[in-house]
Amino acid sequence: TSARVADLGTTIFAEMSALAVQTGAVNLGQGFPDTDGPADVVEQAVEAMRGGANQYPPGAGIPALREAISTHQKTWYGLDVDPDTEIAVSTGATEAIAAALLGLVDPGDEVVVLEPYYDSYVAVLGFAGGVRRPVTLRPPDFRLDLDELRAAVGPRTTTMLINSPHNPTGTVLTREELTAIRDLAVERDLTVITDEVYEHLTFDDVPHIPLATLDGMRERTLTISSAGKSFSFTGWKVGWMSGPAELVRSAVGAKQFLSYTSGAPFQPAIAYALGHDASYFERFAAILQSRRDQLCAGLSEIGFTTYVPQGTYFAQTDIRPLGYDDGIEFCLALPKTAGVVAIPTQVFYDDVATGRPLVRWAFCKQESVIAEALDRLSVLA
Ligand code: PMP
Ligand code: GLN
Repeated sequence: TSARVADLGTTIFAEMSALAVQTGAVNLGQGFPDTDGPADVVEQAVEAMRGGANQYPPGAGIPALREAISTHQKTWYGLDVDPDTEIAVSTGATEAIAAALLGLVDPGDEVVVLEPYYDSYVAVLGFAGGVRRPVTLRPPDFRLDLDELRAAVGPRTTTMLINSPHNPTGTVLTREELTAIRDLAVERDLTVITDEVYEHLTFDDVPHIPLATLDGMRERTLTISSAGKSFSFTGWKVGWMSGPAELVRSAVGAKQFLSYTSGAPFQPAIAYALGHDASYFERFAAILQSRRDQLCAGLSEIGFTTYVPQGTYFAQTDIRPLGYDDGIEFCLALPKTAGVVAIPTQVFYDDVATGRPLVRWAFCKQESVIAEALDRLSVLA
């Protein structure tokens, strides 16, 4: 094993899902829906396969999907994005993140990243030889501290990697926070990579504001999203990036040697799915909001300090009121103590002291599954 990989261990999501399968625990760990996305979209993929969409598609994605992404950006956000030069399809957002970091970051470059961070950011930044400069989001509100953000940018900083709606805290950055990011990016001439995979999953009418829509940002921002989250097909691994041709070209330069191309029959199906009207996305967010409310009410009744998220699939809790203090120990024991799997947030923090008592729970699950998990967890009360 190379030193590069030896240090990484196993991703917490695989580790905890394996534990759930092994022990028969209810899995509120890894963020994947337990209900499939729309049946008509599945039908489109089946038809595409039967119709011969089974060989390598173009590296940047089939024209129909790039067109659909371009239309989506225009319809939802008023952004004009050229489907031929400013969009590329990827094997999930995960590959887009990897391609972007490998294509844009040189060894020694510093990259500002919000922590807790999605774990692939750190792994791939390591592959690229980049140095992370975390800005810490803390309970109870997990907001971005604008002074800490400014302090994180040094002379070697070239890039900011932003994520909103934010996994694992559920924070949705406000216009004020985004404006501070913009001001800094423009002042220091930084490239911004923004992971917006949960763009359609905000609650209580909190708006998702794409960073690329702020004045001065379109020309320096690479935006990443994924069909996994918007359509509940996480296993299809269809993601994409959009932004200035130069940034997309750099990322595709890396992508061509990662996967080369991505899932031929899924691309026409997702092109079709992106054409769903606003009511589909609104209904989906409303369902998730009610699951969030069910889970958060249950967790706080059991005694966890519960932080109600504004977006994503996830809620954070503090376990200390129940007499525990280390989330890793708590989560490793939880399948035994309660028959439930959750994720210790600490593994996403460099600032371990802040992350230590925090545990993340996924609510992208059926109502009956959340009810069963809460019932099991009530033994901790
Ligand atoms: N970014 C964030 C913030 C995520 O939560 C996830 C995954 N679940 C991804 C990227 C990866 O998306 P994909 O499954 O499309 O690779
Ligand atoms: N994004 C999902 C989560 O945060 C899982 C993705 C993965 O397993 N890498 O749980």
